Amino acid sequence: MLDRAELKEIALMNGKGGAYASLYLNVDPVLNKRGDYGIHFRNMIKNTIESLDKAAYKKVKEDIERIEDYVSSSKRLLRKGLVIISSIPNDVWKVYHLNVPVRNEFIIDQTPYTEPLMDVLDNYERYAVLLAEKEDARIFVIHLGEIVEYGEIHTGGIPGKHKQDVWFALSQSAAERHMANTGKGRLGVTGLRTDRYQRHIEFHIRIHLEDAIKGLDSFVERERISRVIIGGSDEAAAAAKAMLPHTIRGKVIGMAKVEMFAGVNEVLATTMPIVEAYGKKQEEETIEALITQALSSGGKAVLGLADVIDALQERSVMKLVMLKDYRAVGCICGACGFLSAQKVEPCPACGGIVEHVDYMADLAGELAVQQGAAVEVVGDSKRLAEYGGIGAFLRF
Ligand SMILES: [Zn+2]
Repeated sequence: MLDRAELKEIALMNGKGGAYASLYLNVDPVLNKRGDYGIHFRNMIKNTIESLDKAAYKKVKEDIERIEDYVSSSKRLLRKGLVIISSIPNDVWKVYHLNVPVRNEFIIDQTPYTEPLMDVLDNYERYAVLLAEKEDARIFVIHLGEIVEYGEIHTGGIPGKHKQDVWFALSQSAAERHMANTGKGRLGVTGLRTDRYQRHIEFHIRIHLEDAIKGLDSFVERERISRVIIGGSDEAAAAAKAMLPHTIRGKVIGMAKVEMFAGVNEVLATTMPIVEAYGKKQEEETIEALITQALSSGGKAVLGLADVIDALQERSVMKLVMLKDYRAVGCICGACGFLSAQKVEPCPACGGIVEHVDYMADLAGELAVQQGAAVEVVGDSKRLAEYGGIGAFLRF
């Protein structure tokens, strides 16, 4: 999985030993219904080779061959975006199969080309999961439907038996604890009595949870993660949540009941409903913002295929939003590639012969990705369907 620390490391590599070949390929089956990513790939390679002088080509020839071999032999691994960074003299070979399409690019340079990967990290929400128990804690990241475990914290030496009261004490705030321990509660009743043994255990668990939260905090900051899920037994998760600093508390989108020794896929299965519910809510907000902006004068958004196509051809789209099953007919000019949602004959841009096509959605998606715009495909939305099923936020 992509991670900021690794990307930074790659970005800082230089070409002391030789050049780097960086490939970005849009292999999204939704945007390549005609299976033509292979054609785009071969054209890019051909154009790049032609642009290099003999000496430069000689230096990267083996890298290019290695990349070609990989692309042709890895069809089954492809998702939506394929990224390869290769430099044989520097002993670098990085492959990322992304669940998001990337703009087609093939770059030969003295340094690896990593900006689009950074954009994927910034633009697609990542979720950190903290799994906490009394002696153990694990941290995971979920990004684009994938999960990776990042680390674990184990604190030994916690005495074995303790009552559930320990978790109760830990999930209280400091003020509540004080009231409970001194009996000076608002209700004037004597609160939880903690004997010394119990407090000893509580102390150990608290230290452990503080360590775990510190680990989570620095990880979330380093990786700039915006959403957090807390998991564990109900008691442990509640205790951990109560101890979170406010910087993290505001990022928590849900609590999950997960066994400490669950496999990563089980952790993913248990937390995915939280991620999906959050994503759905975000999606609805995006669609409302799109409609509001498109309907207000001076708003930087458009709705409907005709305006979206115009905006794409002006290269002003920041983010394309469309329904998953969106289909539309239109025209494409065989000579200059001009697109039109309406029937036009001949091409208004160059006078060439236009072809009537029924895959305007694919063309719009491809064009958006190619321009470096984000593409959000929405599962289903009556609201967006009411407004034509497609729209775009604009840069200007
Ligand atoms: Zn034309």
